[in-house]
Amino acid sequence: MEKYEIVIGLEIHAELCTESKLFCNCAYTFGASANDCTCPICLGMPGTLPVINRRALEFAVRAGLAMNCEITSYSKFDRKNYFYPDLPKNYQISQYDLPLCEGGKVTFEFINGESERVEKTVRLRRIHLEEDAGKSIHAEVTNDPTRSFMDFNRAGVPLMEIVSEPEIHSPEEAVAYCRAVKEILEYIEVSKCNMEEGSLRCEPNISLRPKGSQELGTRTEIKNMNSFQFLLAAMKYEVTRQARILDSGREVVQETMLFDENTGKTVAMRGKEEADDYRYFPEPDLVHVQIDDEWKRAVKSDLPELPADRRKRFEGEFGILDHDAKLLTEKRDLADFFDETTKKLAVFFDEATIETKERNSELTTCVKSCVNWIIGDLRTLLKAAKIDIQDSKITPEHLVDLILYLEGKKDRKLEGPNAKVVLNDAFETGKMPEQIAKEKDLFAITDDSIIESAVSEVLEEHKDGAVKDYRNGKQEAIGFLIGQVMRATRGKANPQRVNQFLREKLSD
Ligand code: ADP
Ligand code: MG
Ligand code: ZN
Repeated sequence: MEKYEIVIGLEIHAELCTESKLFCNCAYTFGASANDCTCPICLGMPGTLPVINRRALEFAVRAGLAMNCEITSYSKFDRKNYFYPDLPKNYQISQYDLPLCEGGKVTFEFINGESERVEKTVRLRRIHLEEDAGKSIHAEVTNDPTRSFMDFNRAGVPLMEIVSEPEIHSPEEAVAYCRAVKEILEYIEVSKCNMEEGSLRCEPNISLRPKGSQELGTRTEIKNMNSFQFLLAAMKYEVTRQARILDSGREVVQETMLFDENTGKTVAMRGKEEADDYRYFPEPDLVHVQIDDEWKRAVKSDLPELPADRRKRFEGEFGILDHDAKLLTEKRDLADFFDETTKKLAVFFDEATIETKERNSELTTCVKSCVNWIIGDLRTLLKAAKIDIQDSKITPEHLVDLILYLEGKKDRKLEGPNAKVVLNDAFETGKMPEQIAKEKDLFAITDDSIIESAVSEVLEEHKDGAVKDYRNGKQEAIGFLIGQVMRATRGKANPQRVNQFLREKLSD
């Protein structure tokens, strides 16, 4: 393997989440009854005429701008001819020589072979628009080996194909690239990017070449990968397979492969067809597309802050670690939530009558706490409930309230363990932390004498056990005793104070 350099280029297909299909008025819902989302146009009936969906163009332009492409001022659709049951017209309307977007680049971070975090930019060749095909339903679903069925619901759904240059050099890098593209598409809200439902499909083209060589080797393409895990496994397998072929002095055959999820191997599906085989020709039923500058500007000004920029801003503005910033910005809704929470925290400290320096350090403390709560407990709760933050009962106000109590910025305080209890409750009920803490009597004990007497009681109770152990040199026993006092005070005592009192009394 050391002899070869891996070269990978990706074709990513993303279904656009427009209300209607690319050339007709049908709405498409994943999982709808077979053929419910169809009309004569997407069924390819003779005599019907397609009309371009303006929103689909806009979405593709938005994606193009988000990935630094040049939006071409003149573009057209072409017929790609082939016969397949899931293609009712026997041709797919796609774009051949004049795609909507050209060039472009995607910058992302990944962990390289030496476990270093590196930044990489992959250039794009083009982004074009095409229609998706329908689906054949075979025996696996029907349990009837004698017949197959057709579901044309997906036929005509707008599909964007994002084609990269062949300049990715490891399977891990390829997956990181795909994740970065997915994140961007999710941020700009042009595709649901649901891989299980097939609204995002990645097709890697893979070749090997002798290290130092500039020429590209013969590639194979792996069709329609719909999970990052399988994508990675398939590429690794294919790299090893090709290396073995080259090692033995044979040549790699250019072909299209399928990944078998059960065996973990790639198998040849068909030989590589060339553009000639498709007899592409201009679609005569559609007008040419001209995107004017004004439209381009409008779409551009509507773009949200993109994940990579947001990550850099979070790192710069709040000193958040890159690993945490990545977790925070993976999903736009969570990043938005974080932004809103920090804004509200800033307002709190702006209104407090404290000096600027103090204000900044207090805000930083609270923002760090906010990061930990979001990427920790809150994400765990959301995952367990299988919901997104905007569908949960937790609002930025909840988190601000919680953090201010936890960090002791209000008249009363919540200790860590009880803050967890409060968050769980708020997640269930939507009540504000303050109310929950009051109702459940969870605010911290401020009176040291109460903590001291709890400590005394615990020491008395365990005088023959843990206390003896500690005095005999077993340091760990203190942890047990702290736990007992925390339990006795129902988590309302400050653990550092408890520790301090325990040590004082034990050394008497
Ligand atoms: P098609 O699959 O339509 O025939 P292209 O020649 O446009 O396509 O290439 C499709 C993808 O394959 C692109 O992402 C490109 O970067 C990649 N690719 C092309 N040649 C190679 C190669 N020798 N090794 C790896 N990837 C390649
Ligand atoms: Mg291809
Ligand atoms: Zn239709």
